[in-house]
Amino acid sequence: MRAAASAGCVHVVGAGLAGLAAAIALAEAGRSVILYEAAPHAGGRCRSYFDAELGCRIDNGNHLLLGGNQAALDYLDRIGARGSLEGPSEAVFPFVDAETGGHWTVQPNSGAIPWWVLSSKRRVPQTRARDYFAALKLRRADPSATIAAVLDPRQRLFRRLWEPLAVAGLNTGAEQGSAALFWRMLAETLGRGGAACRPLLPRVGLSESFVEPALARLRATGAEIRFGARLRALIFGPERVSDLVFEASSTALDRADGVILAVPAAIAARLVPGLIVPDRYSPIVNAHFRCAPSAGAPFFVGLIGGTAEWIFRKREVFSVTVSAADRFVERAAPELSDLLWRDVAVAYHLPLRPVPPARIVKERRATFLASPEQLKRRPQQKTAWRNLLLAGDYVDTGLPATIEGAIRSGFAAAGLATDRQLQAFSQAVASSGGSHCALITEIEQERHRALP
Ligand SMILES: Cc1cc2nc3c(=O)[nH]c(=O)nc-3n(C[C@H](O)[C@H](O)[C@H](O)COP(=O)(O)OP(=O)(O)OC[C@H]3O[C@@H](n4cnc5c(N)ncnc54)[C@H](O)[C@@H]3O)c2cc1C
Repeated sequence: MRAAASAGCVHVVGAGLAGLAAAIALAEAGRSVILYEAAPHAGGRCRSYFDAELGCRIDNGNHLLLGGNQAALDYLDRIGARGSLEGPSEAVFPFVDAETGGHWTVQPNSGAIPWWVLSSKRRVPQTRARDYFAALKLRRADPSATIAAVLDPRQRLFRRLWEPLAVAGLNTGAEQGSAALFWRMLAETLGRGGAACRPLLPRVGLSESFVEPALARLRATGAEIRFGARLRALIFGPERVSDLVFEASSTALDRADGVILAVPAAIAARLVPGLIVPDRYSPIVNAHFRCAPSAGAPFFVGLIGGTAEWIFRKREVFSVTVSAADRFVERAAPELSDLLWRDVAVAYHLPLRPVPPARIVKERRATFLASPEQLKRRPQQKTAWRNLLLAGDYVDTGLPATIEGAIRSGFAAAGLATDRQLQAFSQAVASSGGSHCALITEIEQERHRALP
């Protein structure tokens, strides 16, 4: 496309969901895009692979999307993969108490007025409607406040609902997790009613939903994708990045070229001088048990008082998630398998022995620690260099480190890159004294298409 060629190329570094979203938005808008990825595959912290020992494909970790994750659903629409998700037809969250065997279902009604808290059948047993409204205190929480400092940890509702939701969404315990960030997460989901809380899971796997269709779409639009391309350094001029230095080659940038750096926080801090990023992490442990769950079993179950927190029924495995898993991450895999299978057996009424073949996946740097102190370290997407933007779940999206945050950052970076290219192009036109109004209008139109 003529406008795209004139407007320069955008080099997107990192093919996790942030980089993929940025590349998709740019390619759709007719921009020329090159996507670089250090690994031989895309997806970053959100991907699937074949596990030879288990003899089936597994996800690196369970990822739950909610109906209110608008950017993520928009991304899936753009890559033609929304239909690859499945889940209950409405917001239903089954819970089991691992100590007592008691079970209940939290079932928000679909509209925004939360009348479900008035129904004892839809709320946590032995809680009162007014307990739920106490959560409104989160809205006015001081930015330095933790969740446990705002909500009463002695309350049954805290232990049975707020804490499990906070740990799942922030990957940080309530004693450390930011109350303000938790409020933001609740406001975009539970606060908008049951339709925004409807749980959605990939029918086959993360890569089949979020990664492969995006790569196919990028290839179809003519974007170039380079795997095994690890960025080693950026060469900086006074105002702009001038070169990208990879392990085996370098790329000199044209004046109109842009760079979106969509690598994890620690890598970005190594590449960009003076960049401050969150520097404390929170691990997630996942266990995948090879056994064929019955199709009628619930898609997932939340566990209270066990080791597992959420158990997912997949096609060929039961998958268990333990978030904020510092206390488990050093334990040996066989010990974790035994511990976690016990919870699966309780939740899904299965025999305790034998423990099925298992794969334990420990993601030590799954996300940044969502504490008030760490949130202050989240950087803006614009940098001091005119042609360099940041994307990734760690930038200041106002959301926790999630699929939604990563994709939103990618879309926002694509919009900003298009804006900046437009400015650079206008300056070039002005300084050459030429009249390129038609071309500028064309770029403007494309910019609006790129914005989420
Ligand atoms: C186990 C687990 C469970 C999770 N569960 C959920 C969930 O239920 N719901 C949810 O919404 N979110 C969940 N998340 C969070 C979600 O996966 C992340 O927020 C999201 O995937 C981050 O995407 P990203 O693009 O910002 O970063 P990444 O996925 O880290 O992508 C960065 C990419 O950059 C590449 N790269 C690194 N260095 C270089 C270099 N020098 N040159 C080129 N490329 C480079 C990496 O290989 C990687 O592909 C979970 C995460 C984990 C680990």
